[in-house]
Amino acid sequence: MKRACKNILVVNAGSSSIKYQLIDMITELPLSSGIVERIGLKEGTLIHKTFIEGVENKIVETFPIPNHTVGLERVAELLTDKKIGVIADPSEIKAVGHRVVHGGEAFTKTVEINNDIKAKVKELFPLAPLHNPANLTGIEVAEKVFPNAVQIAVFDTAFHQTIPDVAYRYAIPAELYENMGIRKYGFHGTSHKFVSQKAIEYLGKSDTKIITIHIGNGASMAAVKNGVCVDTSMGLGPLNGLIMGTRSGDIDPSIIFYLVEQKGYSIEEVSTLLNKKSGMVGLTGDTDMRDIESRVIKGDAIAELSYKMYAYRIKQYIGNYAAAMNGLDAIVFTAGIGENDSIIRNLVCENMNYFGLELNGEKNKIRTSKIREINNEGAKTKILVIPTNEELEIARQSFELIK
Ligand code: ADP
Repeated sequence: MKRACKNILVVNAGSSSIKYQLIDMITELPLSSGIVERIGLKEGTLIHKTFIEGVENKIVETFPIPNHTVGLERVAELLTDKKIGVIADPSEIKAVGHRVVHGGEAFTKTVEINNDIKAKVKELFPLAPLHNPANLTGIEVAEKVFPNAVQIAVFDTAFHQTIPDVAYRYAIPAELYENMGIRKYGFHGTSHKFVSQKAIEYLGKSDTKIITIHIGNGASMAAVKNGVCVDTSMGLGPLNGLIMGTRSGDIDPSIIFYLVEQKGYSIEEVSTLLNKKSGMVGLTGDTDMRDIESRVIKGDAIAELSYKMYAYRIKQYIGNYAAAMNGLDAIVFTAGIGENDSIIRNLVCENMNYFGLELNGEKNKIRTSKIREINNEGAKTKILVIPTNEELEIARQSFELIK
């Protein structure tokens, strides 16, 4: 019997890159994944992987990729290639799920894309000038390359649209919110949604107070009460909140005025400083936690201090969100650092017994890609490690819409 094909292509388009994953929604496993990089430069690269019956195959191509269309057309050729293809024809892709970073207040859920939706995504360019234009390019290119597929937009901000005004408003003149939309939006919503739902399934009850801690290159936390997001640490943009690989997270805004007015920095320089040269790289010179961790092990004092600062900020937000929800059932660690870095998890949880957090040292060290509980038996609050899968969440939401 011929199996009904239920394939969703997930596309995450950046200004010079396209990340993609083709997911078979019957098994919820990827058939293929890859990245087109250095679009617009002299030589572009395409790394394309296929997964056939558990066997991974990888090819790397280098060729001029002047624009996103050329890149995605090559992806379509590879996906349908006679020898290495995973599908016979592009029409076997039922929908393309696009990651769109900023949905403003207009989008509270995943939507099928039409001209109105594209116009709204464009209206939101000023709120996400680095991301939304690239996301829209991805949509327009996919419409050309996969004309038979339904195009769907999944917004990073949508999960956070349930945050109440008391948490999303800033105490600045009201007209800045009313006329300019300046408020907290939050990001990484797809990941916070995915792992909080997994945690709810794991806990076996829906009336739960959960804090999700997404710590990868970018980092944010969310307070999720009864499955609904009630607060998050990023704001109008992604600079707020936790200390990140290259972003400062929370700082006193006076620092900006001091640098501009007293030290002659331009606004562009301050922006680069806070977005690209701060956080862990600003403190230690290294971005990757694995490099900083090996320095901690060697007794490097600044590496140790930066680790403690990183964990301290997370502790502060746990207190913040436990207060906002008036309780706490579980905290969830996820993304590159959350899933892998046992030292950070230990630093975050130590001396937090007031919140019912009791980390089990042995369980914390176990490495697996499965969901796991790392608290002591009988502890009041669960400490969970849950691998995130933003691509699968985008595919699920897209599939849900076309079913
Ligand atoms: P992105 O935000 O780009 O999706 P990821 O969630 O993949 O990032 O996280 C990437 C980061 O995770 C790396 O920069 C690194 O600091 C960290 N990381 C990955 N593996 C480990 C590990 N084994 N131990 C500590 N940190 C890790």
